[in-house]
Amino acid sequence: MIVVMASHATKEQIQDVESRITDWGYGVHPIYGAERTVIGAVGVPEADKARYMESLEALSYVEQVIAILRPYKFASRDYRAEDTIIDVNGVKIGGNHITMMAGPCTVESYEQTWESAKACREQGATILRGGAYKPSTSPYSFQGLEVEGLKILRDIADKLGMQVITEVMDLRKVELVSQYADILQIGTRNMQNYDLLREVGQCKTPAMLKRGMSSKIEEWLQAAEYILLGGNPNVMLCERGIRTFETITRNTLDLSAVPAVKELSHLPVIVDPSQGTGKRSLVLALSKAAVAVGADGLIIEVHPHPEQALKDGAQSLTCEHFAELMQALRPVATAVGRTL
Ligand code: PEP
Ligand code: MN
Repeated sequence: MIVVMASHATKEQIQDVESRITDWGYGVHPIYGAERTVIGAVGVPEADKARYMESLEALSYVEQVIAILRPYKFASRDYRAEDTIIDVNGVKIGGNHITMMAGPCTVESYEQTWESAKACREQGATILRGGAYKPSTSPYSFQGLEVEGLKILRDIADKLGMQVITEVMDLRKVELVSQYADILQIGTRNMQNYDLLREVGQCKTPAMLKRGMSSKIEEWLQAAEYILLGGNPNVMLCERGIRTFETITRNTLDLSAVPAVKELSHLPVIVDPSQGTGKRSLVLALSKAAVAVGADGLIIEVHPHPEQALKDGAQSLTCEHFAELMQALRPVATAVGRTL
C-alpha cells in the first residue's frame, strides 16, 4: 500500500508514519517529493491491509492511503504520477528532450569505436553504446573484448563528453562494469535473471532493462520492480522487439508497448529499432514511429563499416545514415512537442 502524506505534513509527521509501518514489521520506501511525500509500505499481507489503511488514514497529516493491486508497486503510476526523469551526469532521460544513445553493437577495436562514437556525437548523441560482454546465441561467435572493451568505451566517451551504456550479463561483474559504465544495460536474454536484477538493484548506477523477447509487459514491469525494490530508483525500460511468427524482420518491434507502458508506469521508455528490426533499411522508419508514439529515447547501432562488423552488421547504420536519421527525426520530434 502507498501512503500519500498531506502537503502540510512536517518532517516529524513523515517520520511518525514511517516508524508506524516499520514497527508493524514492514518495509518503507519513501519518495520525498517537492510537493508532497509518498511512502510505500512493503510486505503488508493482503488480509491486514484494510486495518492498517484505516489507522493511517485517521491521521490528519495523511491525505490518502492507496492499496496497490498491481503486481508491481514502485514501477506503477499509482506510486508516482509524474514521469521519472533520470539524471545521468547531467544527461536527462525521460523529460521533454529525446535522448539519443548510439554506437556500435560491439566494441571491436579502439579505432572502430572511436569512428562510430565521433560521428554519433557530432550528430547529437549524448550516450555511447557498445557491448564489451556480448550475449551470443552461438558459443563460436565473438563474445566481446570484456574489460578492454570497457576501457575503450570509457576513454572515448570521456574524450567526446558522452556517457557510456553497456551490457552486464553476470551478477559477479556488476561492480566491475559499474566502474566504467554510466548506465548498465540488461539484455533481453537476462530480463528474467532475477539474481542479476537484484544485484543491479543494490547498486547506484542507472539501469536500462530490455524487454525479454518473449515477455509480456506485465512481466517486464515486474522485472523492473526487482531493481526498484533493491533501492535503485534509476531504471529505464527498452522495447527491443519480441518474438512472433514473422521472419522478415528479426523481431517484431512492439511500438504499442511504449504508450501502454507509459499508462502503467512512470519509468522512461527507450526504443531499440536496431535489434527490433534486424535490418538497416527499416531503422529510420521505426525510429520515426518510436518518437511519434512517445519514446523518451532511441538506442541505435552505428558502425563505420557495417560490412566488416563482427556482430549485427545487417542492422547497423553507417555514420552517414545516422546523420540522415537525425535530420529526419527532428521534424517528427517537433511535431509531437519534443526536442531532439
Ligand atoms: C544489443 O544491444 O546489442 C543486444 C544484444 O541487445 P538485446 O539484448 O536486445 O538483444
Ligand atoms: Mn546488437
